[in-house]
Amino acid sequence: MQVVFLGLPGAGKGTQAVSITEEFHIPHIATGDMFREAKAAKTPLGKEVQEYLDKGLLVPDELTIRLVRERLGQADARHGFLLDGFPRTLPQAQALDGMLAEEGLGLTHVLYLLVSETELLQRLTGRRVCPDCGASYHAAFHPPRSAGVCDRCGGALIQRADDRPEAVSVRLRENLERTRMLSEFYEKRGLLATIDGERPIGHVYDEIRQALRGDHS
Ligand code: ADP
Ligand code: AMP
Repeated sequence: MQVVFLGLPGAGKGTQAVSITEEFHIPHIATGDMFREAKAAKTPLGKEVQEYLDKGLLVPDELTIRLVRERLGQADARHGFLLDGFPRTLPQAQALDGMLAEEGLGLTHVLYLLVSETELLQRLTGRRVCPDCGASYHAAFHPPRSAGVCDRCGGALIQRADDRPEAVSVRLRENLERTRMLSEFYEKRGLLATIDGERPIGHVYDEIRQALRGDHS
């Protein structure tokens, strides 16, 4: 099971990926999380990508592709994975095809979580995340049981630096056209399943699960 979650920032990829990867026992590979971890740890990669992350710009393809290539080479990704936030550009999608082809593999599902821009703005500005386990919450739409505390691991929730209104609009601009092109790219290959991402979290989850199981009951 080699799965890609496609969708604009705020579409719900991370929210769904946490539960889907637990249920299907595959690693959750989120390039945004990996870049944020590198930035927090002040590694050479982190220093290189910091400015892009803070401004809401895409990190250059070459760096991003290298990071994913290394990650997919790790043992836990041999029997499947869920990519969240990658690919975001056509060169990334082509590079991913190449990496998988080297192993005699190909993507099995590309799930496109479709959400309107108005809804995305509300979601991103109200998002709170757990820096320890990556879980995502929303002040109104998906509050934690206890205010400011992660349900899963007890971590203290924070607002992401790039969820400030200025960076949010840059991120949507950076990703709108590219995401549309990627959805066409995968649709032509017969891999794309479009999911109505505006429905409640549990409904979206059920639809994703059905798409992954090939079960439309
Ligand atoms: P992404 O990983 O695609 O950027 P997230 O999973 O972090 O998006 O979700 C963005 C925000 O929207 C979070 O605050 C999350 O709690 C909220 N959210 C996710 N899915 C839904 C949904 N189906 N309905 C309402 N809010 C949602
Ligand atoms: P995300 O957590 O997916 O919203 O990503 C946060 C930030 O990480 C983005 O705004 C980019 O700066 C960077 N990033 C994540 N994934 C990619 C990617 N596939 N290509 C380029 N930049 C990325």
